[in-house]
Amino acid sequence: MKITDVICHILEIPNANAQATDSAQDDLIVEIYTDEGIVGIGETDTNPWVAAAFIETTGTHTMGLGLREMLIGIDPLETDIETIWKRLYVGSAMSGRRGAGICAIGAIDMALWDIRGKAAGQPCWQLLGEQAQDAIQPYASLQPEGRDVESYTQSLQEWLLRARDVGFRAAKLEVTPFGPYAHEQLSGDDATVYEIVAACRKTIGDDFTIMVDVQYAWSDAERALRALQRLEPLNLFFIETPLWIDDLDGYAYIQKNLNIRIAAGEWQNTHYEFIDLMDRGQVDVAQPDVGRVGGLTEALKVCRLAGERDRLIVPHCWKTGIGIAASIHMAAVCGHCPYVEFLPGNLCQSPLRRDLLIEEPVLQNGVLPLPDRPGLGVTINRDVLEKFTVSRK
Ligand SMILES: [Mg+2]
Repeated sequence: MKITDVICHILEIPNANAQATDSAQDDLIVEIYTDEGIVGIGETDTNPWVAAAFIETTGTHTMGLGLREMLIGIDPLETDIETIWKRLYVGSAMSGRRGAGICAIGAIDMALWDIRGKAAGQPCWQLLGEQAQDAIQPYASLQPEGRDVESYTQSLQEWLLRARDVGFRAAKLEVTPFGPYAHEQLSGDDATVYEIVAACRKTIGDDFTIMVDVQYAWSDAERALRALQRLEPLNLFFIETPLWIDDLDGYAYIQKNLNIRIAAGEWQNTHYEFIDLMDRGQVDVAQPDVGRVGGLTEALKVCRLAGERDRLIVPHCWKTGIGIAASIHMAAVCGHCPYVEFLPGNLCQSPLRRDLLIEEPVLQNGVLPLPDRPGLGVTINRDVLEKFTVSRK
């Protein structure tokens, strides 16, 4: 088998709002074509124009190559994917190594695993390792609305009840009354965080798992710790990204003094960054995004490293069913992955997320069954792909 082409599809929903903090509005889908008719699919969560350029560019020297030119002509089955990954990583190192370059490699790696699974007639997880779970437990990432604390809290409470009604046993609250991700015109202080979470806990009762994502809200670890200690009696599964992600010493300080797990990792590229996050930052829950971390090959390394340190894995995923499928395949072989991030397409606001795939993973009795179709097991709706493709002529 030989790779004959690598095609990048840059997608964007109509009327995308550049002021919204919402990466579900665009997407980069990569298709790797082979001379045997098998096509691998991958996606990644970063600026799609930047990642596409990283793939499509031609190199000017041996350490600044484009990904596409390194892939054309190689046999994706002959060489193991790790070897291909290293070739892409080293060959693009001068312009890549972290950031959007690794996100681009992530989409490619996902597509290479898809090809391998399709060629073998097996779902990817069967090629990734030993089965570690019979089904995958999802948590619902809620998408509340509201421009003041009262309506925002009410929206979160309604979402929680809706999530429980469709079968979820766990959900994540985004509580960002301040900080870089502050929700619309919502404004509040440390006490607001407590009030929102306490109101939600009261609504849903004790028999439901709640995570809280404050999205890098604090810049001061001392202040963050004081605010978060108030949340301790609310029985939370984790607090996600309390501090700006570069303050790893601050993360370690909070982790040491707070009686709630700390989660982070949605932006981390490569397993090297997860070593820092877990060893210096001491996070309890590592959250690789399969596309951003560098694909399934890197995500599996993060799972292994977390296991060696007695930490949990709960992947980040906020693109389409392609990335969700990749998360599920990863979780199937990771025994210390208690949840994956997931919201059924019909509950999502982004039409891209809702409509891109012909079939989506379906929640059955509160869990996601292991995929049984070859490769990632996803089929793109070509009409929807065309509809959202941005013209680059
Ligand atoms: Mg987050």
